[in-house]
Amino acid sequence: MPELPEVQEVRRSLEPFVLNVPIMDVTVLRNSYIRTGAGSISALIGRRVQRTLRHGKKLFCIFDDGQVLLIHLGMSGCIACCRPEEPLQPHTHYLMQLATGYQFRMRDPRRFGGLWHYSSWALAEQSEITGKMGVDALDVTAMHFSAWRNKQGRLKTDLLSQRTVAGLGNIYVDESLWLAGLHPLQRVNKLRDRHALALATAIRAVLNKSITMGGTTLRDYRNVAQQKGQFAQSLCVYGRADLPCLRCGSTLISRTIGGRTTVLCPQCQRRI
Ligand SMILES: [Zn+2]
Repeated sequence: MPELPEVQEVRRSLEPFVLNVPIMDVTVLRNSYIRTGAGSISALIGRRVQRTLRHGKKLFCIFDDGQVLLIHLGMSGCIACCRPEEPLQPHTHYLMQLATGYQFRMRDPRRFGGLWHYSSWALAEQSEITGKMGVDALDVTAMHFSAWRNKQGRLKTDLLSQRTVAGLGNIYVDESLWLAGLHPLQRVNKLRDRHALALATAIRAVLNKSITMGGTTLRDYRNVAQQKGQFAQSLCVYGRADLPCLRCGSTLISRTIGGRTTVLCPQCQRRI
């Protein structure tokens, strides 16, 4: 469930706890949660996170000797930085003891997320981004949609695939398409330049607004300080099926597209 704004908020709230703080110890409570193998992760002991980087929904911690820890929150991944004496929550899979006394804890009840360890950024980038993920959605411009001219496919499915634009999930795709006035089943190769411009502008606007509000909490999502995001109150279509469109007053409808519940305005979002 966490999409780009939520991962960005986790990154923002995580940095004060981990940047330039030596890792004193690591504990793997569930080996399979370290997707690249739990063995190599003890190499992080004694190192410190020098910077973080986010691409789409993936969050990378880059250490002072070049090692990389990739965090993917999946559906229910949650990071907390707390004192070690606080009770361990169920489904906690990984701990890092920080030199400040705080403990980095990652829990994930549904286990669609995970941690990946790489010895260098070059390896991490090659394995995780190159050829797999499109431009980060905060940087998307109309130009990034030019490949659609020769591509089959429908708008929502393509945006969810992460291959053209990285970072959008069900919530922000629906919000962006509504704001841009585009139908989720629109064929991508029929879009004109002005549609591409409207879509890129809408994606950035929706994401930036959500980021300023700490993301969207529908149920589980919390930042590292265990605070909820406030953007749920600003959603225009997601979760609003059968309610009036905030732009034209028509009743919003719900459809299943690509296996995902999709809400749209039949008036504002026509196919071209
Ligand atoms: Zn409408």
